[in-house]
Amino acid sequence: MAVREILIHPDDRLREVAKPVTFPLSDGVKTIIEDMADTMYDAPGVGLAAPQIGVSLQIAVTDTQWRSEEVRHLPDEPGGRRDLKVWINPEFIWKSDNTETCEEGCLSVPETYADVTRPAAVKLRWYDMEGEAHEADFEGFQAVALQHEFDHLLGKLFIDYLSPLKRKMITKKMKKLYK
Ligand SMILES: [Zn+2]
Repeated sequence: MAVREILIHPDDRLREVAKPVTFPLSDGVKTIIEDMADTMYDAPGVGLAAPQIGVSLQIAVTDTQWRSEEVRHLPDEPGGRRDLKVWINPEFIWKSDNTETCEEGCLSVPETYADVTRPAAVKLRWYDMEGEAHEADFEGFQAVALQHEFDHLLGKLFIDYLSPLKRKMITKKMKKLYK
């Protein structure tokens, strides 16, 4: 188990476009994925993208079940990591025209929450750790979480959807709290 340091906005490494992962996965990449899960549960968070720990690779982990208070205490007990998912080289192949607004937060922008409007449903293609391709549709909270995480792989943060003034205020707050 290795919990890595999570980069805090503003950090240039959060703004890099992540590189695709090649298969088969090296032991180094497998360790990164394990560490990402450990770091997400430790935070605690419902998702973490590799750039958030300073790794410029197209990998994200999520556990959207983890959101409930009830589950939050149990990550290392049997069944605690009940919905851990690993997403490699993800790509949206469709996004709905209808949108949904949801309050978002981010481990790289601590203690900050804001409403973000995104497509309500998405179709995704991604690879698992064995290099198998998958396609599936997502909606609701999972669609929000995936769009948020995969924005990280493009060097994008949820605060980019806010007004320039609001973003400036948040950046100022982060610099003050975490410099
Ligand atoms: Zn985030």
